[in-house]
Order: sequence, then structure tokens, then C-alpha cells
Amino acid sequence: MNNKEYNALNDFRKYLNSKKRIVLKIGTQVLLSDKDKLSLSAFKRICSFSHSLIRQQKEVILVSSGAIAAGKDVLNTPPSSNNFSNNFSMPEKQAFAACGQAILMKNYGSCFKQYGIKTAQILLTKDDISSRKRFVNARNTIYELLKNKVVPIINENDTISYEEIKFSDNDHLSALVSNLVCADLLIILSNVRGVYDKNPVLHKDAKLIKTIDNIKDFMKDFKETSKSLQGTGGMKSKLYASFIAAGAGTDTIIISGKNGKSLDSFAGGILTGTFIPSLKNNINKKKHWLLFGMEKKGQIVIDKGAEDAIINKNKSLLASGILAVNGEFKKGEGVYIVNEEGKIFSIGISNFDSKDIKRIKGLKSHEIKTKFGEGNLSALVIHKDKLAVTA
Ligand code: GLU
Repeated sequence: MNNKEYNALNDFRKYLNSKKRIVLKIGTQVLLSDKDKLSLSAFKRICSFSHSLIRQQKEVILVSSGAIAAGKDVLNTPPSSNNFSNNFSMPEKQAFAACGQAILMKNYGSCFKQYGIKTAQILLTKDDISSRKRFVNARNTIYELLKNKVVPIINENDTISYEEIKFSDNDHLSALVSNLVCADLLIILSNVRGVYDKNPVLHKDAKLIKTIDNIKDFMKDFKETSKSLQGTGGMKSKLYASFIAAGAGTDTIIISGKNGKSLDSFAGGILTGTFIPSLKNNINKKKHWLLFGMEKKGQIVIDKGAEDAIINKNKSLLASGILAVNGEFKKGEGVYIVNEEGKIFSIGISNFDSKDIKRIKGLKSHEIKTKFGEGNLSALVIHKDKLAVTA
């Protein structure tokens, strides 16, 4: 080992030491054998890896896929072709998930038990993340579990999620969970070693990228390199997940979950895979939730002056700067803020419903009072603490 390698080893050890709360995302392919069956040794590998991290005083939260693939064999439904995602109907996949989720938990439960670690299941839908109350409730539950040294194992509640209210995939879910639990690090276990400069299946000389300094710029030019048959995400969705995590100040590392030795080395302080540091100008967790978690219902179109005040002066949105309201929404719901050119540049939580905003748009505070009296209406449509700028 030369000096440089020695330093790199020490640096990563130090880095890993500083990361206390880790979200570990496990893709379906990681849990399957070559014959596309659930592999017990994969569960053992993951539990052993989690245990190594927990032994280093870290809190580990799992986001695990695999329910649909695990349940498929229970029901024995014949596929109509070999493209997994397209060849089973939504109810079929939901039924697979209902059977498979129990199998997943049984396997995790028995493997973790060997280390004396207890597990808990948490199933989330997009609605649970969208609603601030449910989001905070899920967070409180997870914190209570962590306090009691229980490993939460999270998956999407597939049996009741349908297309419109689904997360795009579990990579996406893991990024939102990272914000939910205020994670220091998101580790995405994949069936490849990390992110390559070109498709490693087609190009023998493809090189593993060790660090992606600016995930936002990197994603602009990235073309999908590989996509698995049974899982839903590909590398692009992992990068998007790391971009979401980066915005909330969480670093991501994408590594292979297929190789026990490399997981051992990782836990021992050797960085394998691709490291994606968080963005320097990351935003606070609540604003991050506004941008990526909360559901948006309508649009408020505003003039140039109000746009400038929000972007450059961190000001609240006042009625006087509002030109139009599109769609219908209630007080307390999320809305897109759109500029005169029709570009969405911000997201916020409205103090009034869409009908009321139509009544007060363009008016100054004293004009609102003269017209509507000292009632519930005021010039403050969205407070600056409930506004987040998308850029
Ligand atoms: N929730 C799905 C499952 O457990 C996986 C979705 C995904 O892999 O993105 O099978």
C-alpha cells in the first residue's frame, strides 16, 4: 500500500465515522439469484453489512424493494412476455406485492435476528409523503424505532398505490426517506459497481466514475446505461435520487450489493462505487419537502417585480404581484409559482384558496381592507418560510 492509498483509506474511514444516520436502499436485483429467485444469501449479506454499520454506532434505515418479485412465484401468474414491468397488470403486481412483502420481512427478520437486531415494517404511499401531518408522523415513528435500536424496513405500500399516486420507483422513495429521517448518507445498493462513463455491458473499456462533483450538471448529459428487468429503476433513476438527496444536504454512494467482500471493505473504510456529494447550496429540510415531497394542486402566475422579490430578496408573495390563478386549490395546499413567461420557478403553500386569491389578486393591503373589510383576507398570500425556489 503506497502513501496515497493509505491516506485515501484514512480519509474515507474518517468520512464514514462522521456519518451517523444512513439510509440503505436495496434494489430488487440485489435480492435475486441468477435464476431470478429470492436469494437467502443476499439477505444475509445485507444484514451482515447493516450490522457492521450499526456496530460503528450508526443508525440504519432500510428501503427495500423485492416484494413484487418475491410474490410473483407465490401466485404463479404466467407473464405475457419477458418485460416484467409491462407484462403484469397493476392488480397482478399489487397482489404479488401483498404476498411478497410478508416474505421479504420474514427473511430480513430471521437474518437480522442472528445479530440480535429487531426489525419493523413501514409501508408508505406518495400521499403519506405529500401530507405534512403524515410525513411528520412517519418521521416520529421511525425516530422512536431508532431510539429502541430497531431497524425500520421501508417499502412502498404497493397494494394500495396506483399509477397517479405512486413514487416513480424505490430509488425515488429512498431519496424522500433520506429527507424524512434527516439522513447523513444514502447508500444505494445496486447490481452494478457504480456509475460508469459509458454502458459497461456494451463497452469493455467503460470506467467506473469515483466521484460526481456536481450531480446537477452530470445528469444533464447522462444517458441510461443499464436497466434491470425486474426492478423499476435504472442508473438514471439512481442519479435522480442522489440529486434529490443532494438538495437536502445528504451525500449518496452507489455501490454493488452483490458482493459481500466489497461490502465488508466498504464497512471497513474502503470507498468502492461512486460517491455523489450533496450540493453546496442545499436547502433546509422543510423547503426540500415543499419542492420534492408535497403534492402541488394549481398555479399562481406573478409579475416580474414579485418574481424578483422572491428569487433575489427572499420575500413573501403578496397579492399585489399576482396576475392570475390557474386550477383550483384549497387553503394550505401546495401550488406552483409561475412567472410571466410561464416558467415554474417556485413552490409554496397558499394561505388562501384559489377563489379568494382571484378576488384579491393585484390589490395592495389597504385596498383589500377597503374592499373586503377586516375579514380573513390579507395581502400575504404565501409566507417566505413556505416558499421554495426550484433552481
Ligand atoms: N415496491 C416494489 C417492490 O417491492 C419495488 C419498486 C422498485 O424497485 O422501484 O417490489
